[in-house]
Amino acid sequence: MTRQEQLQELFHNNQYFKMICGAGNEDTEEVRRLAMIYTLAGAKGLDISTTPDVVKAAMDGIDRAYDISDKLGIDIGVRPYIMVSVGMPGDHHVRKALINEDTCVKCGLCVAPVCPTEAIEPIQIKVETAFVITEKCIGCGACSAVCPIVECITYSHNEKALEELLPQCLELGAENIELHAAVAETDVIMKEWEMVIKANPDGHNSMCLDRLHIGNFQLKDRIEKALEMTKPGLMILQADGYPMSGGRNDFNTTLQAVATADVVNKQFNMRLNKKDKQLIYKRRRELNVVLSGGTNSLTADLALQGNVRFQGVAVGTFARNLIYKHIKEVYDYNDMEFYNDLNNIREAYLIGKQLVDSNINKGESYGSNTYIRS
Ligand code: SF4
Ligand code: SF4
Repeated sequence: MTRQEQLQELFHNNQYFKMICGAGNEDTEEVRRLAMIYTLAGAKGLDISTTPDVVKAAMDGIDRAYDISDKLGIDIGVRPYIMVSVGMPGDHHVRKALINEDTCVKCGLCVAPVCPTEAIEPIQIKVETAFVITEKCIGCGACSAVCPIVECITYSHNEKALEELLPQCLELGAENIELHAAVAETDVIMKEWEMVIKANPDGHNSMCLDRLHIGNFQLKDRIEKALEMTKPGLMILQADGYPMSGGRNDFNTTLQAVATADVVNKQFNMRLNKKDKQLIYKRRRELNVVLSGGTNSLTADLALQGNVRFQGVAVGTFARNLIYKHIKEVYDYNDMEFYNDLNNIREAYLIGKQLVDSNINKGESYGSNTYIRS
């Protein structure tokens, strides 16, 4: 079985848990420790920045997990798949916002807190015109989503950087690419998706979409276009709720991720049963749906209660916060004694494992592919 076939198996059996280190997280020591603990805990995916040094750190963290797994009595099984994330807040390789000074009406709608990094400062709006501090811009698209003037905010794309970085990251061990695509311009996103597919044509690649800036019709349109460019069965749709909103362990926080998955399933993974006019799941799904954005230990349970199928769960903020005490406070990132303290590692592993276990192996509840929506 190839690695990509093995990944398909994990999706099929609901055994895919992805730990999101953060697309903008370039702290290699933090990524190494997160990768090690969550590999021990049973994560099968690690989502990291498209940065060669970060890929190396994640690979090293996974190797370290295997090195100590015997001592801890842990059978890791399938090695986690490294996914490099592009085009999301925190990723600085992809694009920068540009404001057209001639059409800007200085309304100030795009400044902080809409702009999460204060790349557009209020004072500049009042004095002259809005402009973007390039170094601070993370290309998130929040400003253009609220700007009332058509095409007043556009983006410059650093495709060359991405074209060079993606093959380097794949060469170093990354196996999947994720494109964060919930920004306003479909044409631009499709161009970037083309680049992703070109870099990794035979691997599973993920498009991450939420419904904060685009509606259900645009969501469908974007996925249809992406599917046309992707080999059958290889597309992952990361159904994002509220991106980077995790931290609380309640049903409400994870509700939107499940709702997005439900919308996607009804469009792509379900069909109308002619006999009783009910929606049923297709035997061969078009998309592998991974829940993310506000995800926590209750995500899989909520999806099950709502009869929403998914092939995996990705957790970021919540998963990281759970173990920060053990990986960051007990030993700071300069203190390599961290790797020798098996008691501390075991404690972190047990916390992580509980989270992983709460989100995987829930597939049996779905039975065969014949769930009928009531
Ligand atoms: S793209 Fe995001 S970070 Fe850049 S200026 Fe707009 S809101 Fe700020
Ligand atoms: S929202 Fe658009 S028009 Fe308003 S200040 Fe920002 S760039 Fe100018």
